[in-house]
Amino acid sequence: MSGNVYSFRPHHGMCLAYFAGHGYDSRFTAHMEHLLTVLTPETRIRLTIGTDIVCAACPNNLDDVCHKPRLVAAYDRAVLSRCGLSEGQVLSFRRFTDLVGEHILAPGLRATICGGCQWNGICSSQPGWW
Ligand code: SF4
Repeated sequence: MSGNVYSFRPHHGMCLAYFAGHGYDSRFTAHMEHLLTVLTPETRIRLTIGTDIVCAACPNNLDDVCHKPRLVAAYDRAVLSRCGLSEGQVLSFRRFTDLVGEHILAPGLRATICGGCQWNGICSSQPGWW
């Protein structure tokens, strides 16, 4: 798998950071747990404002489009902007999570981006993975 480049929505750098075993359904939750092992620091990701490897197992993924496309795209664009990144950029997962941690999580800015999300209470109540 090391040669693959995985499509990755920027805002999922926050969702995965605070993943604590909860998800939309059991298949999605198992997929999230699996991704935290697949996405090693060296894994290459391509930033995309569209469905990605996380969305692949989501019940809200309707024919490859999120059921809330405008909302999640706004989350994605905010993460890109905060981190100085661009859609389509390829980088290591480690580099990406370092930037999300430095520019969003550490300064306490996550909720300014996705504070209205249904999972906000979980993400607010615990330390993140990065
Ligand atoms: S389809 Fe939408 S709700 Fe599901 S993981 Fe992707 S962005 Fe999140």
